[in-house]
Amino acid sequence: MLTRVFSPARIGPLRLPHRIVMGSMHLNLEHDPPALAAFYRERAEGGAGLIVTGGAAVDAAGSGGPRYLVLDRADAWEALALTLDAVHGEGALLALQLFHAGRYAMPAEGVATVAPSAVYSRFSRRTPEAMDGARIERVIEAFAAAAAAARDAGFDAVEVMGSEGYLINQFASPLTNLRNDEWGGDEDRRAAFPLAVLAAVRAAVGPDYPVIVRTSGADFVEGSSTPEQSADLAVRLAAAGADALNIGIGWHESSVPSVQALVPHGMWLDIAGGIRRRVAEAGLTTPVIGSNRVNSLPLAEAALAQGDVDLVSMARPFLADPRLVAKSRDGALDLVNTCIACNQACIDRSIGTERVSCMVNPRAGRELDFPRVAREPEPPARRVAVAGAGPAGMQAAATLAAAGLHVDLIEEAWRIGGQFLLAGRVPGKSDYLETVRYFEHELERLGVRVRTGVSARAEDFVAHAHVVVATGVRPRRVVLPGAALLPVLDYREAFAAPWRVGRRVAVIGAGGIAVDLAHLLVEGAGLVGGAGLVGGAGLVGGAGLVGGAETSAQARDRFRREAGVEGAGHAPPPAREITVLRRGDRVGEGIGASTRWAVLQALRDAGVRSRTGVAYRRLTPDGLVVADATGAEETIPADTVVVAAGQEPHAPLADELAALGVPCTVVGGALDASGLNAVRAFDQGLRAGAAV
Ligand code: SF4
Repeated sequence: MLTRVFSPARIGPLRLPHRIVMGSMHLNLEHDPPALAAFYRERAEGGAGLIVTGGAAVDAAGSGGPRYLVLDRADAWEALALTLDAVHGEGALLALQLFHAGRYAMPAEGVATVAPSAVYSRFSRRTPEAMDGARIERVIEAFAAAAAAARDAGFDAVEVMGSEGYLINQFASPLTNLRNDEWGGDEDRRAAFPLAVLAAVRAAVGPDYPVIVRTSGADFVEGSSTPEQSADLAVRLAAAGADALNIGIGWHESSVPSVQALVPHGMWLDIAGGIRRRVAEAGLTTPVIGSNRVNSLPLAEAALAQGDVDLVSMARPFLADPRLVAKSRDGALDLVNTCIACNQACIDRSIGTERVSCMVNPRAGRELDFPRVAREPEPPARRVAVAGAGPAGMQAAATLAAAGLHVDLIEEAWRIGGQFLLAGRVPGKSDYLETVRYFEHELERLGVRVRTGVSARAEDFVAHAHVVVATGVRPRRVVLPGAALLPVLDYREAFAAPWRVGRRVAVIGAGGIAVDLAHLLVEGAGLVGGAGLVGGAGLVGGAGLVGGAETSAQARDRFRREAGVEGAGHAPPPAREITVLRRGDRVGEGIGASTRWAVLQALRDAGVRSRTGVAYRRLTPDGLVVADATGAEETIPADTVVVAAGQEPHAPLADELAALGVPCTVVGGALDASGLNAVRAFDQGLRAGAAV
């Protein structure tokens, strides 16, 4: 029961139908008004109550990149008008986020970046100009003018962006505010700018217009505000008239992960809870909104029940499923396509210029290109087939069935999901199994005839109008002298049967799969007393397996230690001695920018070693002999070698179908195994399904 989620709430005078806020996301769609409006319309129609737009810069210097809206330009308001109509047309509410990136800005050429002080940013790779008093006043006026214009345009609220290390947060931080004037020098003066912005916005919109302030609960940057100082500022903002506090966690320069998959669900909500208690102690009733790694409404319900927050902000989950709220309200939780926090099609794109979408929902951001309305079924409806039920195959089958075709989906393993079944065993990646769960139920709802444990043979498809070949990949083999001297497994064998892996492991390859595998093994999977799984029930068919080797409690402890906050336990020793090896020079190649650093940090913390720039020579009873660039040899001690050095496309079915004259389309890893890119696989599944 989601009784708390679906109880009404208020933000100032604004009445909300439930306690889920669709949080702000920059989409890189902002300069395509019809696409932007279509994106938000689907979310509004799917039950979102209050939606917060992506950050819109209050002036040109505050822009986060070339595709940000800048509110002192008329075209920004024209773009937003279409979205406003779309959202209001579906009965939802829209808040405009007022944004200034400060030293994180990436404005147009010729526009200088500005900040409280000239402190270099690793994120934007710029050193901003320190603002003088007049410039500060002008930026405050720009916030106020944008707020008044938002109210006049018909927005239901504004949200002032003051967290994640953007301009307002920079003024509050002793790390980035080195001033000694009325805007900096001590905690009171560092609070002056955030409070002045709020006061100006309030004066511009009047006492009865909802103003939400997103403020930092924890910066997680050494030398920045302490959590206590952040809480002090939040209380001041509430006392100064914010109608709600939306608590952000971490900066773009943080060394503690806050949004990656390896962050346990809801792990930072207690920081919002601490602020909520401080607000209450001050005699205020300002609602507190919490966020970060809450990807389902049952989790939001638990957070509300815990009493840490009054509302829950969810952003990426609305990319993964625009009908998240409506489905949950209707009790159809199994039909919710869950955000798995991979960041690959959203955050990794939003920090560049590519349109944001979603790995597990490639329609996101392209609603106009792939309309949801089903085509009229042709009488009699055509029967088509999909061979292989990994990401590309699952997506193709769902797309074809949604278009009114009769679909057979054939999978040789005992469960659909392909490599997602392996990924789901990795510490912090259990949500990948939620994708499998979603497709199992969605395909059933759509009437797809799914057959597992069956090899696809061309002659079985002669009566089908079309076949989508999504038969995936096979691990690349690496054969070395001395192979009989040491057990050698490929990565799929190691995932499926970790008990076959000894305690000293050399992993050949250091891409995403090798890194995932190292993470699984170092935590003890397959060992007696290991923290998690002791194997699955088949190569890619471990039906019902949930979770990875590292428990949520261990991950929580690790991040809290790194963040220096209370409640951390001791680090467990590594269960295995693992070395990942690469010919090239980058471990974790192919992992997205927003995630790679956190994954590598977690591996280092877990005790995994890495060696790059090596050539593989031979195996001996003592381990794997490698040579460096000078030819000098070294033995990497190992009792097991695991090969995770890429994969090859596997699509013999395509040739067999061609010989029989059956039309087919090859997609996913079966077409191109480079990087084993799941974003590309889902996307190709969508395109192939839509094109048949
Ligand atoms: Fe979530 Fe990944 Fe989709 Fe982003 S791309 S919304 S992180 S599933």
